[in-house]
Amino acid sequence: MSEIITQALKEGRKILLEHEAKALCLEYGIPVTKFKVASSAEEAVKFAEEIGYPVVLKIVSPDVIHKFDVGGVILNLKSSEEVRNAYNQIIENVKRNKPDAKILGVNVQEMAPPSTEIIVGAIKDPQFGPTIMFGLGGIFVEVLKDVTFRIAPITEGDAREMISEIKAYPILKGFRGAPPADIEAIVKILVNVSKLVMEHQEIKELDLNPIMVYRSGAKTVDARIILE
Ligand code: ADP
Ligand code: MG
Repeated sequence: MSEIITQALKEGRKILLEHEAKALCLEYGIPVTKFKVASSAEEAVKFAEEIGYPVVLKIVSPDVIHKFDVGGVILNLKSSEEVRNAYNQIIENVKRNKPDAKILGVNVQEMAPPSTEIIVGAIKDPQFGPTIMFGLGGIFVEVLKDVTFRIAPITEGDAREMISEIKAYPILKGFRGAPPADIEAIVKILVNVSKLVMEHQEIKELDLNPIMVYRSGAKTVDARIILE
């Protein structure tokens, strides 16, 4: 069992913190935004300088599931002063909106430039076991339910099929001047997510949402992993 998962279970947590989920992703070669967890405003500034501006600050708390909703996410910070202020603002927001939340720190991360957003997920089907989901972000998943599923483990060929069978596929190929997305990067993510969930059967749900896909490469912006 992964050290990250062992530790969470030992602490009685069923939901990995974002940085834990991203660290597990990194072990499988799944690209994520650079991140570091700070426990003071000064440390946040130091990490921001290391990572490079612009950065994003996010609350780290086992009691906050939807970070944005409690004022726990501040985007596009461009200087040490903005980072220092955002750090204090986040702590204040969370204390106001969720007074009992245990605050472990603030996640300082690279700001991923906007691009085509995809979602990669995994659920553990009671009958078929780990199952991989793929779709485009936003309305494509939420309104149009334009998603596809495969039972894990999946091959590169399966991953290519998944990508090309969603209705929104033309958008990934490059649509009306929009740049084409790096399909090979998506293939790798799908196969590696499949490996990750196959090798960690204690994962009940995995959600990489969104992943920004670029002309070259991709970057996971938010990651959630729920344990059984
Ligand atoms: P929540 O816990 O509320 O889901 P997220 O980590 O998903 O918090 O952040 C909310 C939103 O902020 C994301 O859906 C994304 O649009 C934006 N965002 C978060 N982190 C980044 C980042 N590193 N780069 C760019 N955008 C980000
Ligand atoms: Mg999110």
